[in-house]
Amino acid sequence: MAAKRKILLGALIAPLFLTACAGGAQGFLAMLRPPQITWNDTSWCTPIELKIALNKISRKFGPIKVHSTHRWPLENARKGGKKKSYHLSCRAVDFSVPGRPSEVKAYIRSLREVGGYSHYPRGFYHIDNGPRRTW
Ligand SMILES: [Zn+2]
Repeated sequence: MAAKRKILLGALIAPLFLTACAGGAQGFLAMLRPPQITWNDTSWCTPIELKIALNKISRKFGPIKVHSTHRWPLENARKGGKKKSYHLSCRAVDFSVPGRPSEVKAYIRSLREVGGYSHYPRGFYHIDNGPRRTW
């Protein structure tokens, strides 16, 4: 009798468990995957919230290559940056990451660590910790 009840209970619980796992598996696996970030520019001055955002983006979409963080005024002008660019105060990161731009952008938009964000036609993303905006 007791054994029969156990089997019945298992039969009831297993589908619930499997359903829960199927829904959460991707998110759960993403948590386990270590972030991979290659810094091709200064990382020490990058604000912690942007580093947290990069870690989250990398866990979800894969390896990140950071192209630009801090810029000196002349460098910023040469790279076509805005005069009041957040790169001048090292509060912005330009990076590339695999994944569909529409999905990456939607995910970036969902991150409260990010203020401004954009996806440039040349294929890289910009995030900063200024006010929330996009262009
Ligand atoms: Zn930028």
